[in-house]
Amino acid sequence: MTRPFFVGGNWKLNPTSLSAAKSLVEALNKAELDPATEVVIGVPAIYLIPIQEIASNGIQVAAENAYYKESGAFTGEISPKQIADAGIPYVILGHSERRTIFNETSEVVALKTRHALDAGLKVILCIGETLKEREEGRTAAVCEEQLSAAVKQLKEEDWSKIVIAYEPVWAIGTGKVATTSQAQETHVDVRKYLATAVSPAVATATRVIYGGSVTAANSKDLAGQQDIDGFLVGGASLKPEFVNIINARK
Ligand code: PGA
Repeated sequence: MTRPFFVGGNWKLNPTSLSAAKSLVEALNKAELDPATEVVIGVPAIYLIPIQEIASNGIQVAAENAYYKESGAFTGEISPKQIADAGIPYVILGHSERRTIFNETSEVVALKTRHALDAGLKVILCIGETLKEREEGRTAAVCEEQLSAAVKQLKEEDWSKIVIAYEPVWAIGTGKVATTSQAQETHVDVRKYLATAVSPAVATATRVIYGGSVTAANSKDLAGQQDIDGFLVGGASLKPEFVNIINARK
């Protein structure tokens, strides 16, 4: 079973001008990218449409969040239906910054996932443990708890529209990347969980990507692991080295 390699960029709340955002995409448009890698960049809501309009070279765009309602009295929110209507194919949900800073529970993330799929979006679903949870030996349990809320909301066929991003919280933006074996082991645990909670077929087919301080320098070794199907890249997605990460399997 070959799972197509997937590299997501997560710009977060960057950059701070439309012209800088356009420059980032224009550089990717011109770059030589491995055609076997699916490339998706997470863009702040205000830039989604102009960036989607100029993205080429196979680059797809993702929203970084969406609400679980289609429309109504929810000031400041953006709905999956609006994202889909703008022609944006993906949304990132459950990022640890959403969970910790904006208090999103696994249940809310699962509801958002359900509604995003219903609107026709594909979802990059983020999970991962804190340093304390890892030190307590609870990594697999935390990932399972976060996934189990989604399992309750999803049907077996929904999983073909999901990419799971395993992002240990202690590795995000810290420069402390998980070792290849730490990442590989957790990805295997995630697959084991999916095999029992959903089905062995879903466990084999679902892409599980790694995120947390991925750089051009560490991406090759990580990409060589059997169960690491790509990356979700924050800081380095704003730099020229993002191209090398996209090409990590080349
Ligand atoms: P980082 O962020 O690559 O800057 O560690 C990853 C992420 O938050 O998705």
